[in-house]
Amino acid sequence: MTAAFLQIQRLRKTYDDVVAIDSVSLDVRKGEFMTFLGPSGSGKSTTLYIVAGFQEPTEGRVLLDGKPLLSVAPNKRNIGMVFQRYTLFPHLTVGENVAFPLRVRHRPESEIKAKVEKMLALVHLSECRDRMPAQLSGGQQQRVAIARALAYDPPVLLMDEPLSALDKKLREEIQLELRRIHQETGVTILYVTHDQEEALRLSDRIAVFNKGRIEQVGSGEELYANPASRFVAGFIGNSNFLPVRVTASRDGLANGVFPNGLALACGNFNPSLAAGDDGTLMIRPEQMRLSAQRDGTAAGLPVTVRDITYLGDAMHYAVATPWAQEISIRLPAAQRHDSGLAVGAQAVVEWDAGDTRLFAQP
Ligand code: ADP
Repeated sequence: MTAAFLQIQRLRKTYDDVVAIDSVSLDVRKGEFMTFLGPSGSGKSTTLYIVAGFQEPTEGRVLLDGKPLLSVAPNKRNIGMVFQRYTLFPHLTVGENVAFPLRVRHRPESEIKAKVEKMLALVHLSECRDRMPAQLSGGQQQRVAIARALAYDPPVLLMDEPLSALDKKLREEIQLELRRIHQETGVTILYVTHDQEEALRLSDRIAVFNKGRIEQVGSGEELYANPASRFVAGFIGNSNFLPVRVTASRDGLANGVFPNGLALACGNFNPSLAAGDDGTLMIRPEQMRLSAQRDGTAAGLPVTVRDITYLGDAMHYAVATPWAQEISIRLPAAQRHDSGLAVGAQAVVEWDAGDTRLFAQP
């Protein structure tokens, strides 16, 4: 594992009695694409703006390449920044926009010219060099903003929801571009989004923010397979959450009962839960099996089929538990479908205990 390049240590920021972020710590490796993912108001931008120097933390520190960053004036930090709204200078050509950070740094004209060409080629906009920003589409303007932010080879590029003003198709196109640009330049990126799909598509690792804290950091796959909390399980991918009263717990396994009295075993036991506690069982829709209940003897959770949706590659079943909770089941369309599974039918749901997670949160 490569050593941390950007170290965010115990950052806290308060506004009067509002705690914007608390105890935010994170190590980012050189060249990593790190995304801050979380709902609105969870503290993503505050953390990013402290790194950028737009805000000062109440407590905590940030190290870049081992050196304290917060004592460096914002304009001396050499950190690139791209915002949600394209912030190009409207009266400068595309080429001059990209040249701007180099002019501010008094770089020689020959270097500026070469760099502008190189950056515009990187974002595939060489032919637009002499146009004005207003003559470009939103997506093109955002690519110019990326070229400008990278023009002076900043060690870190900060991006605050840079694609959220674009429509879905364009957003997906630029996500691909961004991945390529990241690979070609090797720049370390901190990227803020509230869109889990975008985070999964772009990131090497994702830091999941909730209520001013980081709940978990990991690759998309890690977060999906091993969510550390109910919040993460609900934010990354879809989940069913079923109420369970714990009846016994031992190494990595728990037993419990559902509200209808059905006993179950579940895996990955949360050590803070003991017999008698109420917990929440998480099961992903694609990890459940559904079969028709023909003779009333099949083991598993009895349910009633409420709705069936054909999704092309999968079938989605909405089923109701005996305590009238609706849960989602997703079966691959390639699997042969049981003709007994019609709307209104009685059915049985099963799963493997090892695929479930038990959380203390209700
Ligand atoms: P996010 O980027 O995840 O949407 P923010 O970092 O913008 O979240 O905000 C985190 C919390 O801090 C929110 O509760 C927000 O209302 C609060 N906050 C942010 N900026 C200010 C400010 N200037 N004054 C007061 N509260 C603020």
